Amino acid sequence: MFLSKTVSRLRSLRRKPEGIGILLLFFGGLGVVNGADPVLERYEFVRPHMGTLFQVVLFAEEPKAARAAADEAFARVEALNACLSDYDPESELMRLCRQPAGTLVPVSVSLFAVLTQSQAVADLTDGAFDVTVGPLVRLWREARRSGRFPRADQLESCRAATGHDKLRLENGSRVVTLKSPGMQLDLGGIAKGHAADEALSLLAARGFSRAMVAASGDLALGDPPPGTTGWKVEIVPFGRKSPARRTLLASHVGISTSGDVEQYVEIDGVRYSHIVDPRTGIGLTAPLAVTVVARRAILSDSWSTACSVLGDEEARRAIERVSEEPLFVIVHRRDGEATVPFGRPPPGLHFPL
Ligand code: ADP
Ligand code: MG
Repeated sequence: MFLSKTVSRLRSLRRKPEGIGILLLFFGGLGVVNGADPVLERYEFVRPHMGTLFQVVLFAEEPKAARAAADEAFARVEALNACLSDYDPESELMRLCRQPAGTLVPVSVSLFAVLTQSQAVADLTDGAFDVTVGPLVRLWREARRSGRFPRADQLESCRAATGHDKLRLENGSRVVTLKSPGMQLDLGGIAKGHAADEALSLLAARGFSRAMVAASGDLALGDPPPGTTGWKVEIVPFGRKSPARRTLLASHVGISTSGDVEQYVEIDGVRYSHIVDPRTGIGLTAPLAVTVVARRAILSDSWSTACSVLGDEEARRAIERVSEEPLFVIVHRRDGEATVPFGRPPPGLHFPL
């Protein structure tokens, strides 16, 4: 019963712009647990945030408390959007980007935390993940609108304003400096994961630990549904018609999938993704999508984007270098051909089914 309801709900969501297209979620447990435990019901809430749909699922004893907690979780996402959005010209991020190059700008705890994590992944991936990629992302957004390949001089000037070495963070004082003119930060590859983590933490703090938050291709999973060992997650990275799919059973992890199922432009028969390789300035063309399972969604989100840029082999090498952080990677091929997952599973990943 849960299964078909969830599928139809997600189908209807997919028609919305940048809707949930990458993950279909099936929930294993029914709401009855043994003996003296209270009977928990499953509640689901969906709201548009951060240019996509955020979905909160939680198990609770009664609807009023469930709704109040979900409302608070969505409010937290909205507050983070006001900080991290590259669409809202008044976001803290955009105000930072308007400062003249070289200005020392004190920023909020949230913005600093996301930038710090971004730079850590940039360092570990030799800049494959790079939040200074904003000028190039905008150029490719324009290409998606016009259907034309960006001009060489435009590509060159956008590349000149890109590079994680041009972003300086001062740890003690939470001060950020954009060192070169024309820089534009873009947190599209990490902000949704962080927001999902934060929303999930808020639910747990309100007593709803059996919960999960999904934001398009990014998921933050808490305690499993009652009577189950984990959330059952089906990953369909190229849409339901494609043979490429995987099912995972997990709790207490972040799971993210990066791919081009929704945002891409086709020019002269080549499909360019909205993920840009900062080293070339070109949208990715490999027929791949990457799922990463990590301890938190901020990690899975940034690493799935990074691994998409790196491709199978380079991603393998980068993941091997990150010995202290468990990261489990599944590369999906558009043709559905199986690949061998790699990396180290975090404790909450029970098994790929
Ligand atoms: P989605 O937004 O579809 O979930 P991702 O998490 O992979 O997918 O994020 C893609 C977004 O990240 C792009 O839309 C853009 O805003 C940003 N981005 C593109 N290329 C890079 C890159 N090389 N490094 C960091 N962020 C990127
Ligand atoms: Mg990402």
